[in-house]
Amino acid sequence: MKKAETQHDIMNRLSSPSLKKEDIVPILKMGTREEMNILQSLAMKIKQERVGRIVYFRGLVEFSNLCRKNCFYCGLRKENKGVNRFRLSEEEILHAAAFAHEKRYGSLVLQSGENQSEEHIDFICRVVEQIKSKYDLGITLSCGEQSEDTYRRFFESGAHRYLLRIETSSPELYGKWHPEDGKHRFETRLNCLKSLKKVGFQVGSGSMIGVPYQTYEDIAGDILFLRDMEVDMMGIGPFIEHSGTPFYRSEAYSIPREERLKVTLTMIAVLRILLKDVNIASTTAMQALDKFGREKGLLFGANVIMPNLTPTIRRKDYLLYENKPCLDEDAFLCNNCLEARIASVGETIGYGQWGDPLHFFRRINHSSSPS
Ligand code: SAH
Ligand code: SF4
Repeated sequence: MKKAETQHDIMNRLSSPSLKKEDIVPILKMGTREEMNILQSLAMKIKQERVGRIVYFRGLVEFSNLCRKNCFYCGLRKENKGVNRFRLSEEEILHAAAFAHEKRYGSLVLQSGENQSEEHIDFICRVVEQIKSKYDLGITLSCGEQSEDTYRRFFESGAHRYLLRIETSSPELYGKWHPEDGKHRFETRLNCLKSLKKVGFQVGSGSMIGVPYQTYEDIAGDILFLRDMEVDMMGIGPFIEHSGTPFYRSEAYSIPREERLKVTLTMIAVLRILLKDVNIASTTAMQALDKFGREKGLLFGANVIMPNLTPTIRRKDYLLYENKPCLDEDAFLCNNCLEARIASVGETIGYGQWGDPLHFFRRINHSSSPS
């Protein structure tokens, strides 16, 4: 990339109808303060114009760590025998929902390991129905791959958003990150995203940054994938090692740990510039790498934060990665600390609003707005 790439140059590159990975890679590799400032102000201009400087809260309830999968990067993988497996009771989840309601968070995210048992699916439907009958909260589920029928049951019970990261848009890389046992198939993941859209969910997806074997070209491919899949919500974040996984101390890095936050911020900015009215989360993994990682994410174009409402005693058992922040903070303290942090970067919290992604309404109306 030329040294003095201007906002105009970046905009021109990203607006090209024939945008290719090679056009995105140099932006992802930008590193000087001047370049980052240019990218940031462009992303913030578009954020202000298209979604406003409002941050929506989704209270995150990590309600079960039981998982049938063995993703090579994740601390909850089935073969990690060091994990105390749990599922919260309905009462515990409802208690977290009551807190979200009281604090006027607007939405909840219920996340778990992947469990396809009938009993677990019934449990989720029951909990969602109960929350919806008591509180005016938007509900997002993030419970992995399920059949289309199951997704429909989730939707009919009242959940209206679903998060399923593709993890990587490269089938080849996907193969290197997962065991070849028939349970971890790129095609299945892709079909799940299609089913979720078909059922009517607002769909979130995304990828990790800095997983072994991944290159800048792969990340550029993820950006194009999210654009082409017409995803409404983005959740991207740095990969962080967990000692109970095969990817702990891997030698196969091309994006070192100290680069991962910067590349995540750059990717958030590119997604905001390119996709404009999507919701983008500033993820907890960013905060694990930098105390102010999530605030930085907001300043590069993100507009959603997921405060953790998992009961404090269970948080240490839900470690997708190590060094997860706020393990001992209770939700009340986290809430106070977050408010101050968000105000300090000049953003407003969208209290009491669901904060649905505007992109979704545009997508279902089939009206492609210009620009
Ligand atoms: N089981 C569900 C939801 C829980 S995992 C699913 O897999 O979709 C949620 C996300 O955590 C995953 O999509 C993955 O992108 C992220 N994750 C897993 N291990 C991680 C790690 N070591 N570092 C950073 N993110 C990780
Ligand atoms: Fe299970 Fe999700 Fe972790 Fe994979 S990423 S092991 S599916 S919890």
